[in-house]
Amino acid sequence: MKGAGVNVETFNGSLLREPWEVKTGSGGPYRVFTPFWKTLKEIGPARAQLWPNSRKIAGPQKNPKSDKLSDWGLLPTKPNWANEIAQNWTPGEQGARDRLNHFLNNNIDDYSAGRDRPDKEFTSKLSPHLAFGEISPLQIWTATYDKMAGGNISDEAAMKFLSEVAWREFSYSLLFFNENLPEKPLRENFADYPWRDDPEGLKAWQLGLTGYPIVDAGMRQLWRTGWMHNRVRMIVASFLIKDQLIPWQEGAAWFWDTLVDADLANNSASWQWVAGCGADASPYFRIFNPVTQGGKFDPDGDYVREFLPELKKLPKKYIHAPWKAPEDVLQAADIKLGKTYPFPIIDHAMARERALEGYNEIRSA
Ligand SMILES: Cc1cc2nc3c(=O)[nH]c(=O)nc-3n(C[C@H](O)[C@H](O)[C@H](O)COP(=O)(O)OP(=O)(O)OC[C@H]3O[C@@H](n4cnc5c(N)ncnc54)[C@H](O)[C@@H]3O)c2cc1C
Repeated sequence: MKGAGVNVETFNGSLLREPWEVKTGSGGPYRVFTPFWKTLKEIGPARAQLWPNSRKIAGPQKNPKSDKLSDWGLLPTKPNWANEIAQNWTPGEQGARDRLNHFLNNNIDDYSAGRDRPDKEFTSKLSPHLAFGEISPLQIWTATYDKMAGGNISDEAAMKFLSEVAWREFSYSLLFFNENLPEKPLRENFADYPWRDDPEGLKAWQLGLTGYPIVDAGMRQLWRTGWMHNRVRMIVASFLIKDQLIPWQEGAAWFWDTLVDADLANNSASWQWVAGCGADASPYFRIFNPVTQGGKFDPDGDYVREFLPELKKLPKKYIHAPWKAPEDVLQAADIKLGKTYPFPIIDHAMARERALEGYNEIRSA
């Protein structure tokens, strides 16, 4: 290009900062999120946003000859399993910008308090757009700062939201400095954890048939829409790893195949985080109880009812633990446990003790 008199410069559009630019006092990478975020906030993005002031580069006058995309028959038809995915997302830059504007105009003030509620639409749902490069974190950062500067949103809400965008940057930093992140636990002793080989259990988890409604609703949301709420991702991941003792890599592989926002850095770092073997990980002994998690974050059961229509008529009292409902309540709700909806595939209290025993084994090894 130089020969043609054109000067070309490249910039990283997929991150606010290159991984090696956010460094500790001694010049190394961060292993803990909070100081990473503090530094990123201080140094800010690498540059100001070009868009929307960038000039358009004229393309060719005539489109080159090509096949019609529809002729390739890439979309599934029999059955059209992508139908609901298509209804939920508008791929492309315009779809991404609309999503950001909608979020900043309507939801961001509820974000801090409401981002853990899967029954509400309080998060941005920008993840697939970020994963496909349809919007950059710099666009998100700039638009959020502009809103904050204009007094349209609270500083607290804006910074909470941007701190989550920074978790993405942190995951990229972890992947950059640990190229085995997708396969190997960062805490090496976890490679010796006594995992179970349980193909049937894995299948039940993938299909949303574990008998724990919040887990099953999450897995069905994933299958139907290609996305799952973050709180529920944590619950289903904890269930697979700690209740079922199935290696986190199996869960990451399923997410990789089914998520519309599948992202190697975020997916690997998050699975390691839940498993307790990653950087700045949640402690291994924090084992989510799927019934109490359901009651806390989906208090009326609306999320469960949306994705598990077979439990639609079950009263709120039993929605997160159908096996506790008396027979007449189940009958009135048209539920036959073991037929229309499974009994729990595992007893959570037993599973919890078993997981902790495994942890003690590797801790003392
Ligand atoms: C087991 C597990 C696997 C995950 N796999 C992925 C994945 O493959 N791809 C992916 O993009 N996210 C993944 N996440 C992180 C998170 O669940 C999603 O980014 C978030 O739910 C996307 O929804 P949103 O855009 O509405 O998020 P918002 O809450 O609106 O956040 C805005 C953006 O910040 C980033 N972000 C938010 N939370 C996190 C987080 N915990 N870690 C990293 N980045 C975050 C995302 O880019 C997100 O789009 C995973 C989390 C868990 C627990």
